[in-house]
Amino acid sequence: MKSIVYFSGLKNKKHSSPLNKIKKLINRCEPDRLFAKGELIAIKTHFGELGNTAFIPPIYLRPVVEVLKGLKTNPFLTDTNTLYVGMRTNSVDHLHNVNWNGFGYSTLGIPAIIADGLRGENSIDVPINGKYLSAVKLASDIVNADGMVCVSHFKGHEVSGFGGAIKNLSMGCASRQGKLEMHSVTRPKVHQDKCTACGRCLSACAHDAIVIKPKAFINENCTGCARCIAVCPEGAIGINWDETVENTQLKMAEYAYGVHKSLKGKIVYVNILINISPACDCYPGNDAPICGDIGFLSSQDPVAIDQASYDLVMNQFGGKDPFVDIYPYLTPEIQLKHSEEMGLGSRQYEIKYVE
Ligand code: SF4
Ligand code: SF4
Repeated sequence: MKSIVYFSGLKNKKHSSPLNKIKKLINRCEPDRLFAKGELIAIKTHFGELGNTAFIPPIYLRPVVEVLKGLKTNPFLTDTNTLYVGMRTNSVDHLHNVNWNGFGYSTLGIPAIIADGLRGENSIDVPINGKYLSAVKLASDIVNADGMVCVSHFKGHEVSGFGGAIKNLSMGCASRQGKLEMHSVTRPKVHQDKCTACGRCLSACAHDAIVIKPKAFINENCTGCARCIAVCPEGAIGINWDETVENTQLKMAEYAYGVHKSLKGKIVYVNILINISPACDCYPGNDAPICGDIGFLSSQDPVAIDQASYDLVMNQFGGKDPFVDIYPYLTPEIQLKHSEEMGLGSRQYEIKYVE
């Protein structure tokens, strides 16, 4: 069965705002049927690491806010803290980053909430009975939201080939513990050269998994909760990025399914195909786009919208996959295939054009 994906290109009349196209695209997905008055609706996006300029410009979220306010829902912007140490490791730095990158109240008129708590500790296990995972660990305010508009910047990605709706749902909605589960199969490690033996990680660890001898060392009691990473003032606790890229994509598909399940499918997806950079917006910088801007898509199916976005980018290269050229060790289709196997959506789609 084919899913419907709505598409609007960038060609436009000079008196007509492209933002109206985004509004029309969302309305085609019947948000009035999905969301009710007073509901707390998450606008899940990526605020971009400080220094990056490829992320979705905040003004593109204004039509999303307008549609949700028009339905008398109570929308909020959201993302989760990062696994690694950077400007989005804890909610305080993350919210500074939100404002510095232009997503503040003065631009969008709604608050931003970092969905997994002060240091990424607010995590809820959602059972999924997947092929690889029995449950996924999601940011609590994602699970507690009444619905979501998932606005994703479609671009290249060094682990999954491309990042779109599935990536935004999975890695983007997982708690820090969940992100660690997708990226790593071993416990975090302490960089001995950076450790000052201050002991702060000891107090944060609820599992007696850290000893100081004479610097911090993580032992076999570690459960992979990832709490210690965010408390270290020296950024001395790091991750072993040792999960295979294939398995990370498979787990991503199962995490995305977990979000879809916990929100009972009350999600509208919007993919933005501009500034299609070769790598993730998590970097503090970005390379030139790999092709020209393409347009905007919407759907109620995250698999179909990513497949359609992927196909539209490949069309720019005569049907050839540019992401595989950039990352020859990757098979980006794994995330699509396993998401479809999980019942998250369909790779078969029909495009409906919206003026
Ligand atoms: S918090 Fe960081 S610097 Fe302090 S003991 Fe732990 S690893 Fe070392
Ligand atoms: S990941 Fe969690 S359990 Fe493991 S050492 Fe860090 S705080 Fe302790």
